[in-house]
Amino acid sequence: MMKSVKILLVLSLCVMGPVSSYAIEKTLTGFYWPIGESGFDQKCGTWLGRDNNHGGCYFTGKYHIGVDMMTYTNNSDSEQSHVYAVSDGKIILKHCSNDSWGPGNCALFIEHKTIDGEVFIGLYGHLRTFLKQDDEVYAGKLIGTTGEWSNGEHLHFGVILGNTIPGTNVSQGIGWGMMSNNHWNEDWPNKTNYFVDPINFLNTHYPNNDLNSNPQTEQEVHTKAYANSGRLAWLPLGSSCKDATKWIDIDTGTVVADKSIQSVDGNYVCENYGIYPNCSM
Ligand SMILES: [Zn+2]
Repeated sequence: MMKSVKILLVLSLCVMGPVSSYAIEKTLTGFYWPIGESGFDQKCGTWLGRDNNHGGCYFTGKYHIGVDMMTYTNNSDSEQSHVYAVSDGKIILKHCSNDSWGPGNCALFIEHKTIDGEVFIGLYGHLRTFLKQDDEVYAGKLIGTTGEWSNGEHLHFGVILGNTIPGTNVSQGIGWGMMSNNHWNEDWPNKTNYFVDPINFLNTHYPNNDLNSNPQTEQEVHTKAYANSGRLAWLPLGSSCKDATKWIDIDTGTVVADKSIQSVDGNYVCENYGIYPNCSM
């Protein structure tokens, strides 16, 4: 009886807590999906989606070298328009252009690594964001929201192999999001300007989030705790959550609780913030 009352109390605290129940979905290999979910509409913006004359509905004379993840909302406060870093990384370019990305929108180029040390760049386009070049991001960090776009609000997500942002050439029809049809018969990398199928990439590679090592810095604690259990990290460094002295909201960096955890059937609970079934680090 005592036990069920305790669990009920815990569950109701979770429901009332400031952290939403919206879970950020991951690929089978452990990358976060950039808009937080796997089931998104790509509309005409599929990988290598083509124009009307070539069996698609993409812009005439062009083909698409990324994937559009439709968010279907103009409310930038909505979680449906949230965009997340697929893994740990660093912003190497912030490119803002009304013509390219929509009014007030930007693109972030974030350098990421796979678990094998392979470097790739994620292109997150049509974004409203306060982040800037050289900012570091952790896996699953909220990096912005999708902004207005005439054909429907969405994230344009691209993956470039290597650590070099390829050039663009308007007169030759070479871009970061689309290519002119006259490049269609070329071989990679010229065909896609060094971009590869982003969904296939996320599903067939593993992220380097330092998940298997003992965290040594607060940043690593955040990264690891986030990847394991959601929106909270705990301190001290290298401790299990059983021994936590502080819990930190990862999105804001603020301390939300001092050691207010308790064991319920082997699970650890931070009041108001949720249950951590496997909190050992
Ligand atoms: Zn696109």
